[in-house]
Amino acid sequence: MPKPLVAGNWKMHFTVPEGLRVTEELLHHLHPYAQAVEVVLLPPAIMLWEVAHALQGSGILVGAQNAWWADQGPFTGEISPSMLAGWCHYLLIGHSERRQLFGETDEELNRKLKAGLKHHLEMILAVGETLEEHDAGRTEEVVTRQLRAALFGLEPAAAGHLSIAYEPIWAIGTGRAATPDYANSVMGMIRELLAGEFADAGQVRILYGGSVTAANAPSLMEQPNIHGALVGGASLKPEEFARIVQAAAKVQTTPA
Ligand code: PEP
Repeated sequence: MPKPLVAGNWKMHFTVPEGLRVTEELLHHLHPYAQAVEVVLLPPAIMLWEVAHALQGSGILVGAQNAWWADQGPFTGEISPSMLAGWCHYLLIGHSERRQLFGETDEELNRKLKAGLKHHLEMILAVGETLEEHDAGRTEEVVTRQLRAALFGLEPAAAGHLSIAYEPIWAIGTGRAATPDYANSVMGMIRELLAGEFADAGQVRILYGGSVTAANAPSLMEQPNIHGALVGGASLKPEEFARIVQAAAKVQTTPA
């Protein structure tokens, strides 16, 4: 299993100067953990290049929050994986806000996944159920559908460049994180599904996302099926984000 991954999704926050100031602060706080944990910042597209520059040589990586699948063309407002290739390391796709507010479908995400992999980006695919689906006991069905459709037709080598973020939608931005046991059990199911898709499924990290904080990160990170976190709100606060990364680093360096 590769080292844990903690990604900070800034969503649509910060002006460019603010984002650069936060990056400087993060560099200071994250420096001690950059070896033990893969840390990725996902700033808005407008400041991606600048943040990548500011992070150069630190071991902390950048990723985009979204991209279209074509290399170029008449897609006003979009960016493409080919524009990110070579300097931007990660690409997040399928965040529930993209699915719900912008109508992204599983089939589109399959095209985005293939396009990102074609341009050698490390991909993070977000999946997760709504509150209604959760309450109706449909989590496994929903997550299975999302995964099977998005992963359809991928090459076996994709496993080495893929992370899955399990983000129950009812936990995102609500302050109501899933319990470690619940997250671990859904993520165990995801692990089993991945084993049926890839010979090398052990390479795929499975991250938990949804109201991760410095306070709940240690109990989440110590679950056997959780290999990191996708963090929204808490990633906007450098000290708090660093404590989440520290929790992941501690699990990584504590012998079982
Ligand atoms: C997210 O946006 O991916 C997320 C998990 O947000 P939050 O941590 O704020 O719940």
